[in-house]
Amino acid sequence: MDAECLFCKIASGRTDTEFLHETDALVVFKDIHPHAPVHLLIVPKKHIRSINDVDEEDREILVDCIMTAREMARRSGIHESGYKLLFNVERGGGQVIFHLHLHLIGGWNR
Ligand code: AMP
Ligand code: ZN
Repeated sequence: MDAECLFCKIASGRTDTEFLHETDALVVFKDIHPHAPVHLLIVPKKHIRSINDVDEEDREILVDCIMTAREMARRSGIHESGYKLLFNVERGGGQVIFHLHLHLIGGWNR
């Protein structure tokens, strides 16, 4: 938990962000500036800065994020038409929130 981190605040339920899904390990909510008809963020509750900072012990978190994204794609009705899963890594990779998150993007051709 990083007191300065927006996604720590959101993931711990200290904002009014609505969760589409929540487990002990992660939350899912809509991106505030969607780039597509479906644009969700899968956010682990543990504060990890980026993919570069994932430790061995965090492997399960990555699998969990990807499997949850797949399930949210199914629930959003874009499972079959297709979608993108994206981790932006550090500034050069387009990351602006330095708390690990997976983008689920799709819904153009449902
Ligand atoms: P990234 O560029 O990978 O760091 O993506 C950060 C994403 O978080 C951007 O797509 C933002 O639109 C999104 N975002 C920032 N603040 C919020 C918020 N309060 N609620 C939902 N999404 C947010
Ligand atoms: Zn954080």
